[in-house]
Amino acid sequence: MALVWKIDEVVNEIALWPIKRFYPTLIAKRTGISLDAVFTRLLELTKDQKLCVKWELRCPGDNCARTLLVIDEKTIKLRDVFCQYCGHDFCEEDDGDIYEYIYPVFEVCKDYKEYLRKVNPSIKKKQPLMIGKKHLN
Ligand SMILES: [Zn+2]
Repeated sequence: MALVWKIDEVVNEIALWPIKRFYPTLIAKRTGISLDAVFTRLLELTKDQKLCVKWELRCPGDNCARTLLVIDEKTIKLRDVFCQYCGHDFCEEDDGDIYEYIYPVFEVCKDYKEYLRKVNPSIKKKQPLMIGKKHLN
């Protein structure tokens, strides 16, 4: 169980950073815990309403990989999406393959952020102790 606590600890830490979203890889790197285990735990935290999960649709165009959309549910119709940066057009046949293009990204729920700030009054809103740290992502 201690591994899970470590994940929670890092989540609580980055919840106070001025970032909008974070990837499971950030937690995996900071904790040294496998991405699978981190992802499973982060999903559990969404059930506790501490986090919410979103899905980033990334362009599969050559050397593009830009985030085109951030969606709540995996219900997007790919044929409606067009990359304005490289011109990649998702055709109708791509509909079944959305899982190849979407990546989970987590947001800390507003209420939970406020709660943490209340119980940790000494922690400043600004990103603490970031300078000199190697692993931000
Ligand atoms: Zn593109």
